[in-house]
Amino acid sequence: MTAGRNWAGNHTYRAQRLHRPTSLEHLQEIVATAPRIRVLGSRHSFTGIADSAEMVSLEAVQTPATPLAGMDVDLAARTVSVGGGVTYGELAEVLRAAGAALHNLASLPHISVAGAVATATHGSGVTNGNLATAVAAMEMVTSSGDIVRASRGDADFDGMVVGLGALGAVTRLTLDIEPAFGVEQRVFEGLAWKSLYEHFDEITACGYSVSLFTTWGEDVGSVWVKTRTDQGGVADGDLFDAVPAVVDRHPVVGLDPTSCTPQLGRPGLWSDRLPHFRMGFTPSAGDELQSEYLLPHTSAVAALQAVRSLSPRIRPLLLTCEIRTVAADRLWMSTAYEQASVALHFTWKPTPTAVADVLVELERALSPFGARPHWGKMFLADAAAIAPLYARHADFLRLTERLDERGAFRNAWLEDHLLTS
Ligand SMILES: Cc1cc2nc3c(=O)[nH]c(=O)nc-3n(C[C@H](O)[C@H](O)[C@H](O)COP(=O)(O)OP(=O)(O)OC[C@H]3O[C@@H](n4cnc5c(N)ncnc54)[C@H](O)[C@@H]3O)c2cc1C
Repeated sequence: MTAGRNWAGNHTYRAQRLHRPTSLEHLQEIVATAPRIRVLGSRHSFTGIADSAEMVSLEAVQTPATPLAGMDVDLAARTVSVGGGVTYGELAEVLRAAGAALHNLASLPHISVAGAVATATHGSGVTNGNLATAVAAMEMVTSSGDIVRASRGDADFDGMVVGLGALGAVTRLTLDIEPAFGVEQRVFEGLAWKSLYEHFDEITACGYSVSLFTTWGEDVGSVWVKTRTDQGGVADGDLFDAVPAVVDRHPVVGLDPTSCTPQLGRPGLWSDRLPHFRMGFTPSAGDELQSEYLLPHTSAVAALQAVRSLSPRIRPLLLTCEIRTVAADRLWMSTAYEQASVALHFTWKPTPTAVADVLVELERALSPFGARPHWGKMFLADAAAIAPLYARHADFLRLTERLDERGAFRNAWLEDHLLTS
């Protein structure tokens, strides 16, 4: 079986075989014998990051009894253990039944946990680390076929978590959980650029998770504020000069909000409010491309001004742009490594050539801020440009050589963006 295309349809996997192992032993055998192999997650990346001559999907067997798919909640230890093919939507169901929660989620729940962790996928919130920061322990099958386990605090653990799929096949992740909490979501519209520039820190900290959606027009656009009910919920009234929306909204202005999680301050469970999109709905047909850059929170306003100066180039290609915040962490290849970050995300129309052209200008404009591209999205920066952005880059390359001695998990994407000669 061949692997087909990614979610957005802009990358056709060149893998000639897609394996679907039914047991851990089967996976070990596949990985140990394949000359070149990669794990395919839920296909939500926009590049060939998951591609290789052979690929393996861990989502094949979905019975809880299999070690590759099962989930195990431990309320006393405040952890959940998930198999390498599980999605956040599936995990949220199990946590809901157990009265537990994750600290944060990305914009949609259809993404695999292991794929999200591997690429430092994040939600928003100045006090919230990205989704990889919830990993307390992990297990993987390396290219020798051996099983490697590591826990927070172990040597090299901080290098293994955001592994970019380059270290082995992650078969199990143990994630921190907490008691379930409620969230209210409210959208505020019409924020002036001046207000954002003057009050960036206040606005991005006015809720547990705050996202701004803009198309770089006359005003900023909307501010989506998600506040925990155990922290008082969303305050009434205006947000500087932005006013509360009176109907539900979609992040892309004018689109039907049916696929979006409820707003208007209606309280709901963390898992039904932290993602922008509901589990039961496909948020779009995949007719979009995405890019994102993370840079120091302290450079946010200057970076916004730099991007805004490119708005005549950006706007014709844009569906929407989302601005989020991510707390600093210690994970070597995390886009928020040792840096409280602001994330500038671009949802583009499906025009790859034009997008690649505008990325040249965008990356030039953001380079003075040390912008780190999101690993799962479209970007141009090569290994020479990426290396200085990560203090532990060389350590990570050494880790790939140690865990993957025969280079089975190397692929073209890694050669282009990480492996300096
Ligand atoms: C509609 C949409 C919304 C998105 N929203 C957000 C968002 O809110 N925030 C954000 O930060 N990003 C977001 N993303 C990006 C997305 O989270 C990342 O691209 C993520 O990597 C996708 O996970 P995946 O399982 O689909 O990975 P894939 O694209 O299948 O693979 C990504 C990488 O993970 C590796 N991998 C996957 N599973 C394993 C495993 N078990 N063991 C080892 N390696 C593995 C692959 O080899 C590959 O290197 C979004 C993407 C889309 C399409």
